[in-house]
Amino acid sequence: MVRMTFLGTGGGRFATIYQARATGGIYLEDGKNLHIDPGPGALVRMRSVGIDPLKTDAILISHCHPDHYLDAEILIEAMTEGGTRKQGVLLASQSVIEGNGDFGPAISKYHLAKPRVVKVMHAFNKIGLKPLEISATPSAHSDTSGIGFKIQSSQGVISYVADTQLVEQVIKAHKHSRVVVACVTRPLGQRIPHHLSTEDAGYLMEKIKPELAVITHFGMRVIQENPETQAKWIEERSGVKTIAARDFMMVELKKEGAVVTDRIRQTPEK
Ligand SMILES: [Zn+2]
Ligand SMILES: [Zn+2]
Repeated sequence: MVRMTFLGTGGGRFATIYQARATGGIYLEDGKNLHIDPGPGALVRMRSVGIDPLKTDAILISHCHPDHYLDAEILIEAMTEGGTRKQGVLLASQSVIEGNGDFGPAISKYHLAKPRVVKVMHAFNKIGLKPLEISATPSAHSDTSGIGFKIQSSQGVISYVADTQLVEQVIKAHKHSRVVVACVTRPLGQRIPHHLSTEDAGYLMEKIKPELAVITHFGMRVIQENPETQAKWIEERSGVKTIAARDFMMVELKKEGAVVTDRIRQTPEK
């Protein structure tokens, strides 16, 4: 079984600044524990649902905007048991690790020396992380080295379409995914460059036809216009079951299908 916990569903500048939704990224469990895009508050959100940050095997970062990377250094310290063990994997865009034009680097040299593997991921690069396999997918974003991810899991392929404009390459790269998680920053009728709007997500899902679409990373205007309304529009347009993610929502993917619940808040282990 694959389990995804949404430690945040906000994104873009103002939803992040005001914490209109949490911005802690996604924690995925399937033999290994991955943390995708640990934005501001990721550690705080992990604590509120009782996820132990030390139980992190890999950190995946799509690009060098703070709503996607801000808590990464502390999470590297957690993954490496306070920096005492050379373990864990960091997979990130070139901007995050080396810098790309005005963007990054986002991780200090000190922290880059801690994990067992640090790898700059360009589109179509692949890495095995048994039992998972992770591929980087193309993006067309203001950080030109930005990527998305495709995770070959025990339950088929899970796609994470990070911040990007809708281009043919992105659609193609995510074909054959069972679940597509997409960052939708803008609502219907309010498209801006470099990001997915509700219309874009509708077109994307119609072309990919996954079993389940999950939209997340809501900008302030999506929140004002109601994410559920955007999800319903995408579902009607694409014919794909579409869910607007909620903070602390959990998607459990089994052979028979996906079960969506809210992660019960537990007492933190430490
Ligand atoms: Zn973003
Ligand atoms: Zn961005």
